[in-house]
Amino acid sequence: MKITRIFACRVELPLHEGAYRWSGGKSVSVFDSTIVGVETDEGVAGYGEVCPLGPFYLPAYANGVRAGIAELAPHLIGAEPRELAKLNWLMDAALKGHPYVKSGIDMACWDILGKSTGLPVCELLGGRYGDDVTLYRAISQEAPSAMAARVAQYRAEGYRRFQLKVGGDPDDDIERIHAVAALMQCGDRLVADANTGWRPHEAMRVVRAVRDLDVYIEQPCLTYDECLSVRRHCDAPFVLDETIDGIDVLLRANADHAMDVVNLKISKLGGLTKTRQARDLCVSLGIAMTLEDSWGGDIVTAAIAHLAQSTPPDLGFTCTDFNSYVSVSIASGAPVRERGRMSASSAPGLGVTPHPELLACPLVDVMA
Ligand code: MG
Repeated sequence: MKITRIFACRVELPLHEGAYRWSGGKSVSVFDSTIVGVETDEGVAGYGEVCPLGPFYLPAYANGVRAGIAELAPHLIGAEPRELAKLNWLMDAALKGHPYVKSGIDMACWDILGKSTGLPVCELLGGRYGDDVTLYRAISQEAPSAMAARVAQYRAEGYRRFQLKVGGDPDDDIERIHAVAALMQCGDRLVADANTGWRPHEAMRVVRAVRDLDVYIEQPCLTYDECLSVRRHCDAPFVLDETIDGIDVLLRANADHAMDVVNLKISKLGGLTKTRQARDLCVSLGIAMTLEDSWGGDIVTAAIAHLAQSTPPDLGFTCTDFNSYVSVSIASGAPVRERGRMSASSAPGLGVTPHPELLACPLVDVMA
């Protein structure tokens, strides 16, 4: 089987809540996502998706996805899409860095591998555990009472895990965490995710002020060393996210005992192939994981479901159903949340079919 065409289409994903706000006053109201299509000489096509959390979250931006695919695609025409390790080696040889650019192509090739073998991606990633996976709900940054009201709303819909977007004014954040912690019940999990937003002295104040609460602290500061310093003064369970963008820093963080949970995002690491490598390493090391992506619609959500459901449940801390945050469907067959849980499709590949009208006008189109 050979790749004969790679194309990329832009799609806008507005939010049900109108806007998503996190640390440092950053917000997005309409996500700019890219559907990536890979076609082959045997008539099998696969689809991936890449959706940065705006241009100011990770070193990734939406136009960069398309520009990068235009750069990369000519090197991949004629390659065997089902040889995923070799495909990633080819991508890394043709374009240094830019993992998020490669993520959609890699995801589409896993879809092709599944379709051509008749197997769902979760089975190809190691096997399906259980009937479903536990979702968390991200709570956009607002006033403490408004965030508590959102938690109550999503709790009523079945979510039991909540990730508060903090990383703002530390006094406000202390109030936010206390307001929401008061609502937690046995079995719930609360994560305060600062998304790099606190200076170390601010982070120290917050972790001390919430010390009596059952809360996880996620990525308090910008750099790895700042986070490690906070970690060493904090007895709450600790999550690292933005700074863990590859195997080398994952191994360093494990050796430093810098985290209890790591947040693995598919596009941050460069696709399902590289995220599986990090995931399997975490399984061997006993590090729990939040498995997700920076953002996305139905295709990213399907990929997350396959990744999460092929992870041993005792180490799969939680994952995300981004498609329930956005008001536009981009594909049929995607996971549908039920009482705070979702399951990976049992159809071959990712189990999603992009709506054909969204593929009509590619911004990038490279053919043999
Ligand atoms: Mg995070």
